[in-house]
Amino acid sequence: MSTLRFKSVETATSRKTVAVKLPEERVDKYYARQVFNRQKMFEYLPDDTFRDLVDAIDNKHPLSRKTADAVAEGMKRWAIDSGARHYTHWFHPLTDGTAEKHDSFIEHDGKGGVIEKFSGKILVQQEPDASSFPNGGLRNTFEARGYSAWDISSPAFILNNTLCIPTVFLSYTGESLDYKTPLLRALNSIDKAATRVARFFDKDVKHVTSFLGWEQEYFLVDEALYAARPDLVMTGRTLMGHESAKNQQLEDHYFGAIPKRVEAFMLELEYEAHCLGIPVKTRHNEVAPNQFELAPIYEETNLANDHNLLLMSLMSDVARRHNFRVLLHEKPFNGVNGSGKHNNWSLGTDTGTMLFSPGKTQLQNLQFITFIANVMSAVYKHNALLKASIGSATNAHRLGANEAPPAIISMFMGQQLTKIFNEIEKNDNTTIIFDEKSEMHVDVAQIPEILLDNTDRNRTSPFAFTGNRFEFRAVGSTANCASAMIALNAAVADELNTFADKIEKRVADGEECSNAILAEVRELVISSKNILFDGNGYSKEWGEEAKRRGLDTEGAAPLMFDAYLSPESVMMFRRTGVFSDIELQARNEVKWDMYTKKVQIEARVLGDLAINHIIPAATRYQSLLLDNVFKIKQLFDNDSAEEISCQDKENIRIMAEHIAAIRKSVAELVDARRIANRIESDREKAIAYHDTVIPPMETIRKHIDDLELMVDNEIWPLPKYREMLFIR
Ligand code: ADP
Ligand code: MG
Repeated sequence: MSTLRFKSVETATSRKTVAVKLPEERVDKYYARQVFNRQKMFEYLPDDTFRDLVDAIDNKHPLSRKTADAVAEGMKRWAIDSGARHYTHWFHPLTDGTAEKHDSFIEHDGKGGVIEKFSGKILVQQEPDASSFPNGGLRNTFEARGYSAWDISSPAFILNNTLCIPTVFLSYTGESLDYKTPLLRALNSIDKAATRVARFFDKDVKHVTSFLGWEQEYFLVDEALYAARPDLVMTGRTLMGHESAKNQQLEDHYFGAIPKRVEAFMLELEYEAHCLGIPVKTRHNEVAPNQFELAPIYEETNLANDHNLLLMSLMSDVARRHNFRVLLHEKPFNGVNGSGKHNNWSLGTDTGTMLFSPGKTQLQNLQFITFIANVMSAVYKHNALLKASIGSATNAHRLGANEAPPAIISMFMGQQLTKIFNEIEKNDNTTIIFDEKSEMHVDVAQIPEILLDNTDRNRTSPFAFTGNRFEFRAVGSTANCASAMIALNAAVADELNTFADKIEKRVADGEECSNAILAEVRELVISSKNILFDGNGYSKEWGEEAKRRGLDTEGAAPLMFDAYLSPESVMMFRRTGVFSDIELQARNEVKWDMYTKKVQIEARVLGDLAINHIIPAATRYQSLLLDNVFKIKQLFDNDSAEEISCQDKENIRIMAEHIAAIRKSVAELVDARRIANRIESDREKAIAYHDTVIPPMETIRKHIDDLELMVDNEIWPLPKYREMLFIR
């Protein structure tokens, strides 16, 4: 097993020694140690089983029962050799995070003892009770039972001495109840559609893979301070708290030295991630104090997403060992930046071509332009859906704030690409020819050699081209990336299919293939150029301009979700086979319900804190002042007493006003909830929470934050921003 060296680090806040675990071995010795990867399969499976399994994974075949039994036996041996005693189907329900139900390997041996057993049947399928997970009414319409089934494209791994088997989660009638099922469907549809188009350029292409490289942002807070903030514990964000005098204005945190204590955490996290085969690579401080980022080497999208989910739970575990709590919430603190999870996305063929990278020949560049134009058109047509895919109660705090992309999806292409598109648009008498073997003979003036630099990246753009990939920046830090990846891959797949249909028709009608392609690319560029925006996305003018261009500018999450049910979305998901109509409806019910519940919990916590923590503290301080005023009056003559105590009197009055305003707003908040809770429809209820519950919460917070500046620091019942935000 692992050999770890311990090194001590003194922490200023806890006055405690934390151990920095440093792996003694080289990373290649422990990388993927806890993963049943091909090397372990080779070692633990009989030859023919190994071959069948690899073939099934590579060519997306189902496994035979016989192979499954043999795989299960080998996997069990490996797991037990590696210290595991339990196994679980690991899946992604429609809540945040992942779900597990652990069983031990033991079975009766018929002689009064037990043996450790694991069959192919259990490996391949289990039946967790679907009714305990959000299902948007599918349970009532169909069956209470659900089942989980092994996703052989993502390898099993061992976490906390448990063998975890990545699975999809479905209702008994086949509707997806998770994120993984539709993600796999979307990846399958983009594989097929992109392969069709890539084969216009290279007949050898058999598959196209979607790649994802996420950048996970997060905050760390000291465990003790976290425990003293009920709002953080229960909602993941601070519902109150005045800005600290110093926060991020000096811009001294970004890329600054990582505090020792944090470094100790990061080292251990990276070690554990590497043991689980998660290729984390980059770590740095982010803009806000206590904010950090971790990014891996990009991987195939399904695996990358499993790894992101696994990493998020790993982070929480490791942080606690270092007396930290990790905050994944999009906006834990007002006044400093929130956290996102940029999704870097690209497509690559099995022949080794990255489809969003310009090539050396003009043919390669035509292919590059073709794929970029199709993405552009898909993002244009489905901009509202893409926004809905990243909308949530928590991400709402970050979108549209003056730091993150606004609640409008636009695209940034960079100067060179924009110039090329302009030329394509202007020039309609293009003729190019390339022969069957895809060798270019003819000069294509319209597509010059493309050398992209990505220095002119527009950080305000929610969807940017960054040299060899697109970066979807609006994704929230708590999100399951699958949501964005399903919408994006499905939308682009649909666009590519339409494109391929058109080219095939033109060619059948006798048109030369490359001419047909260039003509269709030109159509795409002209019809979707309204999505391109290179200005300041934070500006107010952009909101107006976007509206004129017909882009979706809806800012309220419950209404954003409607985009899933628009005729364009429904048809697109039908054509790509990613979601049935009934699944879309059910999932939206879950989205609205989750939205309501998150706001509801926040409203309750805020109400309690206001009444039980803040008002009593403010009142106590107020009586100290009152006491002071009375005593001054007894000691001094009237005029002097008045002069000495006038500020105190003024403060008493102001505090009384704040307290009264808080009480009034809490009463409004309770009423608003009561009225909203009576609403039947999940959608209408979520809208009511958005429109009527959130406003009084904002008012309450404002008064509390003002009080924080007035009340004696010793009396104030909650840790303040300046204490929580600076780890020494
Ligand atoms: P920055 O913050 O400058 O955007 P980072 O290095 O933090 O860049 O993160 C870039 C992410 O993009 C990494 O996860 C990286 O693996 C990923 N990435 C790089 N190239 C591709 C690609 N072709 N497809 C998908 N992801 C990519
Ligand atoms: Mg980035």
